[in-house]
Amino acid sequence: MQWITERHYNAEWALVSQMEVLARQFDEMEDEYLRERKGDLEQVVERVLKALQGKPSELPHAAPLEEAGLILVAHDLSPADMLQFKDSVFAGFVTDVGGKTSHTAIVARSMDIPAVVGARTASTLIAQDDWVIIDGDAGVIVVDPSIDVLSQYRDRQQIALLEREQLQQLKHTLTVTKDGQKVELLANIERPEDAAAAIAAGAVGVGLFRSEFLFMGRAGKLPSEDEQYQAYRDAVLGMKGLPVTIRTVDAGADKPLDASTVKDAAHLNPALGLRAIRWCLAEPDMFRTQLRAILRAAVHGQIHLLIPMLTSGSEIEQSLKQLDLARAELDQRGLAHGPLKLGAMIEIPAAALALPVFLKHFDFLSLGTNDLIQYTLAIDRADESVAHLYDPLHPAVLHLIAGTIRQCNEAGKSVSVCGEMAGDVAMTKLLLGMGLRVFSMHPSQILNVKREVLASHMGQLSTWARKILRSDNPQSLLNK
Ligand code: PEP
Ligand code: MG
Repeated sequence: MQWITERHYNAEWALVSQMEVLARQFDEMEDEYLRERKGDLEQVVERVLKALQGKPSELPHAAPLEEAGLILVAHDLSPADMLQFKDSVFAGFVTDVGGKTSHTAIVARSMDIPAVVGARTASTLIAQDDWVIIDGDAGVIVVDPSIDVLSQYRDRQQIALLEREQLQQLKHTLTVTKDGQKVELLANIERPEDAAAAIAAGAVGVGLFRSEFLFMGRAGKLPSEDEQYQAYRDAVLGMKGLPVTIRTVDAGADKPLDASTVKDAAHLNPALGLRAIRWCLAEPDMFRTQLRAILRAAVHGQIHLLIPMLTSGSEIEQSLKQLDLARAELDQRGLAHGPLKLGAMIEIPAAALALPVFLKHFDFLSLGTNDLIQYTLAIDRADESVAHLYDPLHPAVLHLIAGTIRQCNEAGKSVSVCGEMAGDVAMTKLLLGMGLRVFSMHPSQILNVKREVLASHMGQLSTWARKILRSDNPQSLLNK
């Protein structure tokens, strides 16, 4: 501006002169990465110059920038970051690290945020102002697409939108197989307000409310009993009389609240550390605060309490003792509380292999296949370098799942799957064939899975599932 007013440069000349000054500063930078950012500066200047000269941009902008949206490319994002993402200027994101079932990826899917995680060097290869397509379903990123590729993806986007609209017609259809077997499709939620999406998708309840999201991003300040009570009550009221399964806080591993609240944040193997119920039993006051809040919210509707990551009878007994204490504390304070159905997550092989003790103490069980796969195969679900080994169809995983479903069915106890497998249409028939009748998933997946259930015939599926369970290579039989 100064050069225009004082030296009477025209705008283009002033811009280029100023760029040259800045470019020399970039050239002198020691850090190679920063030095290379000169290219970003030149790109921006080039575009401003074109705008000043009234020339059209050469970028393949089949849509205005605002319509296409901004993509955040970062080394890593935490699950807590996802909670703010929806209100941000970004339409999607790419991260270098993370696995498909890391919590960041799960929450992104649940919030319908297009994302590709575990893209390794994306944050160094993609430059500011690059045009980027992200195909979250396929895990593909296209940088600087040609106009043809761009229009192909636009067509795909349109088709996906139309498919979604068509699926809406199934919203009020009862979920039954062709031979009349009833199936329950429940929703996974992270925040009380997600109940609206669950209802909109026709869920018959919430099968997993990941309560830890109420605890995140609070700089070490845990939510009070009243704050939690209000959140759980809102979820229950939001579900309009349908049951809500609230999982007690599952922090740790790839879901640290922050360094001050999770003591083992720097632990070498956080997935094997003080996570979920282990942390709760180590911090009984914090745990009972949550239990009291849940018990109080149960006055407003049906709540099922779900405890994550249990492995042994002793942990079960300690957890139930804390629940009794929480009830007694409310009685002492003269505060009303409601009844709870009690459930445990089966997400560690030890739990699946010692099922009778779980069947003895709980009303229902829920298979957390995300962790069951991680712990059975010793694959960190958040580590992209071993993501190719993360295999839901590994025979060991399938045996643990099938065994759990069979024993629950024989004992007359309800069993669900609430891991990502439940929302994967490629798995629906196999899980049905194993005897599963309750699936819990992101609201956005419910109608897809319903369509799969409506097209299924149980008689044929049980025989087929048994064959898959006997196979060394289940993947090869999945589509037969
Ligand atoms: C699971 O482990 O499958 C599960 C549903 O819980 P989370 O993904 O929150 O660990
Ligand atoms: Mg889990």
